[in-house]
Amino acid sequence: MAPISVAILCFPAAMCASTLAAAMEKRNVLLVALDETDDWAHGDRYDRFLEGMMFADSFLAELWDFLQSSTQYRDKTTLILTTDHGRGNTPEDWTDHVDVPGAEDIWIAVIGPDTPDVGEVSNSEIVYQNQTAATLLSFLGLDYREFNPNAGAPISVVLNPTDRR
Ligand SMILES: [Zn+2]
Repeated sequence: MAPISVAILCFPAAMCASTLAAAMEKRNVLLVALDETDDWAHGDRYDRFLEGMMFADSFLAELWDFLQSSTQYRDKTTLILTTDHGRGNTPEDWTDHVDVPGAEDIWIAVIGPDTPDVGEVSNSEIVYQNQTAATLLSFLGLDYREFNPNAGAPISVVLNPTDRR
């Protein structure tokens, strides 16, 4: 079994490409948690929440540009974006996600050389958060069942047909 080396970064502030490159050295998985939007939403600060979203958006653009400008990562790297929870659906309940209707709804976006370019998918099978790790392992050429046979299966729509297990 191939070793998996993970770097985990939790950044509420701006990050530069050189920091990412240093974090990724000799690792094949980088997890970056962007917490700002959750913190500001709990604080009922919609203005800061929007700023946090704009930061995350620009950070992801910088990250993708960095990956695509690097011979080490270009066309060899998959970016998986997701959220750990949703928020409420109304102005009254958007500041929390515990026992809030709609907080169970999340999304996932995947881009990379092993993912078909199908755009936004809205009529697929329902996928679940417990499929994320198995999907990541598939991109590494690993079978999730060797780690946790009870985990959700890889999300097939984001895998090329030859990579599906
Ligand atoms: Zn929260």
